[in-house]
Amino acid sequence: MQVCVYCASSAKIDSAYFEATEELARLLVENDVQVVFGGGGSGLMGKLADVVLQHGGKIKGIMPQFMNEVEWGHTGVSDFTYTHTMHERKAKFLEGTDAIIALAGGTGTFEELFEAITLKKLGQIDTPIVILNTRGYYNLFQQWMDLAVEEKFMSDDQNQIWRMVDSPADVLTAIHQFERKRIDIKNAGKMR
Ligand code: AMP
Repeated sequence: MQVCVYCASSAKIDSAYFEATEELARLLVENDVQVVFGGGGSGLMGKLADVVLQHGGKIKGIMPQFMNEVEWGHTGVSDFTYTHTMHERKAKFLEGTDAIIALAGGTGTFEELFEAITLKKLGQIDTPIVILNTRGYYNLFQQWMDLAVEEKFMSDDQNQIWRMVDSPADVLTAIHQFERKRIDIKNAGKMR
């Protein structure tokens, strides 16, 4: 299995985020799961790669060339793909990917997550999406999406596109419990 992990580049965050990333990385390797990530050497990206490599796992970085030029890449990762643009990078994240995991992050993580959610909503991918809600970081996201449903910008089933779990130990179970069903947009036009 290959998973794509979206996560923070910031290193200034609470240690709980690093601990959760470390536990998840260890569990992924123990379960023979290959990892694709943004290729960064800092923050949760750096921690994820460090721990996967320490445990002998497989990890691939996908990074636009402009980030490589300013040396944002993780120096221990040997398997890298460089893209021209951020758009191309996001498309490559999903190639051959069986599941998407979003850890805590900033706008970069949010836009990756929102793109995946939107692609799934539009029936372009059927990939399970699991959000790891460390320290309740995604509680406001869930509230925002609930508001979108309440205000009828989203239907209820669209709000079921992802699963949210509190503990790294629950991430793989949540992925396996996902029914890989592509949304049929011909029948999803209820909001109109
Ligand atoms: P964020 O969640 O805002 O930290 O963004 C994580 C994503 O932002 C990564 O996938 C990269 O696209 C990008 N990014 C932002 N800053 C950096 C950095 N210093 N090193 C590597 N990637 C970064």
